[in-house]
Amino acid sequence: MKLNVSIIGAGIGGLASAIRLAVRGHAVTVFEQSGKPGGKMGELRWKDYRWDTGPSLFTLPDLMEELFILADEEMKVSARYEPLEIITKYFYEDGMVINAYGDPEEFIHEVAEKTGERAGRVRRFLRKSKRMYDLTRDVFIFGVFNSLSTFISSRFLKAALQIYRLEVFSTMHGANRRRFRSDHLVQLFDRYATYNGSNPYKAPGTLNVISHLEHNLGAYFPEKGMYKLADELYELARRVGVTFEFETPVEKILLNEGVVKGVRVKGETRKSDLVISDVDIYYLYRDLLTDIPFPKKYFKQERSTSAMIFYWAMDRTFPELELHNVFFSSNYREEFRQLFELKGISEDPTVYLFISSKVVTRDAPEGGENWFVMINVPENVGQDWDSEIKRTRQSIRNKLNRILGTDVDKHIINEVVRDPRNIETETYSYHGSLYGNSSNSTFSAFNRHPNHRNDIHGLYFVGGSVHPGGGIPLCLASSKIVDQQISHHYY
Ligand SMILES: Cc1cc2nc3c(=O)[nH]c(=O)nc-3n(C[C@H](O)[C@H](O)[C@H](O)COP(=O)(O)OP(=O)(O)OC[C@H]3O[C@@H](n4cnc5c(N)ncnc54)[C@H](O)[C@@H]3O)c2cc1C
Repeated sequence: MKLNVSIIGAGIGGLASAIRLAVRGHAVTVFEQSGKPGGKMGELRWKDYRWDTGPSLFTLPDLMEELFILADEEMKVSARYEPLEIITKYFYEDGMVINAYGDPEEFIHEVAEKTGERAGRVRRFLRKSKRMYDLTRDVFIFGVFNSLSTFISSRFLKAALQIYRLEVFSTMHGANRRRFRSDHLVQLFDRYATYNGSNPYKAPGTLNVISHLEHNLGAYFPEKGMYKLADELYELARRVGVTFEFETPVEKILLNEGVVKGVRVKGETRKSDLVISDVDIYYLYRDLLTDIPFPKKYFKQERSTSAMIFYWAMDRTFPELELHNVFFSSNYREEFRQLFELKGISEDPTVYLFISSKVVTRDAPEGGENWFVMINVPENVGQDWDSEIKRTRQSIRNKLNRILGTDVDKHIINEVVRDPRNIETETYSYHGSLYGNSSNSTFSAFNRHPNHRNDIHGLYFVGGSVHPGGGIPLCLASSKIVDQQISHHYY
């Protein structure tokens, strides 16, 4: 049965869904309001410099490989990626530096040596985070959430029976605090809450599964930079027959008595049997599904954090830095209190510095580096971002100068800044949040918007706002879920 499918948005979730449905033989059109594919995964160029503007960390690459395999292609032919020997270099204000090696044993040895934590404790934690991942992945990552079958499945019952293993009733920080003696190590593992824009002092300990993805399964980097991934998915989609219409915002989803009839673009009706939305659900209900009552319950939860990013063109290289570097705040608890309770930015924020030219040498001219300097900031609730940028730029520079013993200002030859306002206006992400709702409550995972509403036939939802959490992998997982649901409903 060949279906006409309209996809709204060419973010990662939209592109992956387009590929999956086109290889099944459906006629797929993607409508994208901007001029290019990728959504939050973007790039920026200035003279001989290039920056990835969105995601920088690539985990669970198999989910992307799978899309190429479905199309009978090999991902490595178009977008090679390599495992990282050092995933992240961590700098603390007291002078401690920890290299998080990609090899788990090397990492364990490094933290034991630097922090004095017993190697066995770290090894047990990594084993535990793998067990938690194995118990939860089929339900929470790949499971269909509004289906009773998920909750009576043996996978769910197995996880439910072992709930005591999942650290559901303690916070990430509480669980890490009990587990480790070293404050440095607690902070290092607490940091994984920020991978889905959450607060380690509130999010359930179950989120310690995120460490497993990076420390046991590994982190990777594409040979040609992150944006190449979006570009290659776009090219793959075209090769399998998907049609793209850029600068074509969808104005409305057309329904008749609860059945999808198509979409309206540029004032015209475009008929389709199915519509898949990769749009943040807030804007979807506000603008495109105006006949449906606004589902307030999904917006009661806290939003995930947003970001303030400085893209700096540097006129020198810094051999002491790696691809991913983190300069920790000296008061982590205060940083999160500011982010979530006060919707502000602390005086001493944790700084993440990503330099893709460490791997992709052509991303900066010889003798230079392309710095992507990011701090987590609260969702946009109308803060005075211009003065926040001015103040924070100074704290970031002071911190980097202090820890690196240099004067970074002297080496910045160009600067572009992004904040929650641009993230919201460019990708229609509500309040500029990077990962949809936060996972700050024990029940966040159960409160996510379903990928399909039983009362609307032919409409499916993908992307970060319906699979809140870890960015690219979960957006890819959402498209896999929707593909399975469509197969179940139509064939
Ligand atoms: C600075 C930053 C850093 C990040 N770091 C990481 C990281 O290291 N690792 C990671 O895994 N994730 C990271 N993320 C998160 C990751 O980028 C997102 O989770 C993911 O890209 C979201 O994809 P999506 O499918 O939800 O769609 P989005 O990227 O949100 O795209 C939605 C698309 O829909 C389009 N659209 C909206 N409304 C309409 C309409 N009416 N008509 C047509 N088109 C429309 C938009 O223009 C957009 O292109 C980061 C994000 C940012 C911004």
